[in-house]
Amino acid sequence: AKKDGKTNWMFFSADMQHEALRKAVTERELNKALENKEFELYYQPLINTITQEVVGLEALIRWNHPTKGMVPPGAFISIAEETGQIISMEKWVIHEACRQMKEWESQGIPPIKIGINLSPIHFQKMNFIQDIKKIVDETQFDPQYIDLEITENLALQDTEKVLEKLQSVKGMHITVSIDDFGTGFSSLLYLKKFPIQTLKIAQEFVRNLEKDAENQSIVTSILALAKAFQLNVVAEGVETIEQLNILRHQQCTYVQGYYYSKPLPAKECFQLLQKPRSY
Ligand code: C2E
Ligand code: CA
Ligand code: CA
Repeated sequence: AKKDGKTNWMFFSADMQHEALRKAVTERELNKALENKEFELYYQPLINTITQEVVGLEALIRWNHPTKGMVPPGAFISIAEETGQIISMEKWVIHEACRQMKEWESQGIPPIKIGINLSPIHFQKMNFIQDIKKIVDETQFDPQYIDLEITENLALQDTEKVLEKLQSVKGMHITVSIDDFGTGFSSLLYLKKFPIQTLKIAQEFVRNLEKDAENQSIVTSILALAKAFQLNVVAEGVETIEQLNILRHQQCTYVQGYYYSKPLPAKECFQLLQKPRSY
């Protein structure tokens, strides 16, 4: 037994060393990535299923790694959160999204909502409101078109502080969505208290919607909840016409997902926005 214990411990240790090394390497590479402009934003359209119009976009970060190629956010966001690099990374995201929207505006595209994912680490940072104000000043982008996507688990933090910040955000005419709604730990009390406008139904509830009765019930409940609280709803990860029809039937007007479009590089997104009715 002793020997087993030792062996296990050694495996564990090797794993930890490997993990620590991977993190250290990523941390160093992320610093370079910011300097060398290796990040890029992709944009995924949000569609009004009644008018078939693009009503908004979500900005999603991509990392063009010099040797590994395109690295998805899942591979580096949590490390950037641990190291604190998420702050400078997201400041870049917000700036780039606003700059891009402003550029498209100057090319004749009427402004639409741009969703920006905000890490709880960033949200909790003391001067995050000033950061956003500065970016809005620099880019001259109208903040009423910014939608900050936050996660439910923020509510687990100091509620009063979160509420205060959300009110400052609202004061700037920036809207707020709860991302991946239903997967976290928020309560109905917060839903009632917090100045938010939109719930984004998590992909995992939309998956298999045509076959999964439990997911159907969850989606129905979220829609009822949203109606009671007068919130907008966006269903994420809509991939099939069957899923779309179920959502439409339930008066879920806004959707996002591969059925309409994958996240697009800026150029392709611009081409899409140039067409008056896209789908
Ligand atoms: P998310 O905010 O839930 O974004 C939606 C993710 O689902 C995106 O993955 C998108 O490409 C993917 N997706 C969209 N439609 C479909 C579909 O129909 N089917 C499937 N299977 N997937 C779909 P992506 O771009 O890899 O981003 C993953 C996560 O990384 C995001 O999840 C978000 O939490 C995070 N992320 C991305 N950019 C940022 C950022 O700037 N800041 C922070 N904090 N997080 C970010
Ligand atoms: Ca999101
Ligand atoms: Ca989401």
